Amino acid sequence: MILEVRAVAPFYKNGFIVGCERTREAAIIDPGDEADQLVASVRDLDVDVRLILLTHAHIDHITGVGRMKDEYSAPVYLHKDDLFLYEGAVEQGAMFGFSVRQPPPVDIYYDGTPVTFGDYVVQVHHTPGHCPGGVCLAVTRDGESSATLFVGDTLFAGSIGRTDLPGGDMDTLLRSIRGVLFAFPDDTVVWSGHGPATTIGRERRTNPFLV
Ligand SMILES: [Zn+2]
Ligand SMILES: [Zn+2]
Repeated sequence: MILEVRAVAPFYKNGFIVGCERTREAAIIDPGDEADQLVASVRDLDVDVRLILLTHAHIDHITGVGRMKDEYSAPVYLHKDDLFLYEGAVEQGAMFGFSVRQPPPVDIYYDGTPVTFGDYVVQVHHTPGHCPGGVCLAVTRDGESSATLFVGDTLFAGSIGRTDLPGGDMDTLLRSIRGVLFAFPDDTVVWSGHGPATTIGRERRTNPFLV
């Protein structure tokens, strides 16, 4: 799998390009303030962006959606339970002292149907708790079993997502992590919305919020 990660100030939120080596089809995950870098990287990689996938609709994860829609004719996916956050993007920005552009409308709500790019399949698992519409995107090469997880702000290397923002709930978050994420094998690679990658096994063994 082609995988590129970019993050910039002030949120240092990870924006991802995931692509198929064979077909050069790709998905963008959580485009934010690093949108320019993602666009440059798409050009360098010579991939064809087919999907814009959002793990959730906090402001740091969506400020680049408009730029992506300007560049690529790809649909934007979101869980419908985060629509209130998405529609409140301008207010969310103001809360952090930023003036942001309202992102273009969501095209498709996740409904449990897998989405695909090239030879890869993305299974979408609802993981509320950090916010109501948080999802985990489990990317697998067709015919293979090991997934790479993009978990948004649900789980971090050594930490878990905050639950003090609107719609957040600690018990729900812990249930999502233990019930959904920890159902994956220990060697499963986890990419979080902020910070470095980790694995399910490492977090199961060492995450102070979960051991
Ligand atoms: Zn968040
Ligand atoms: Zn975030």
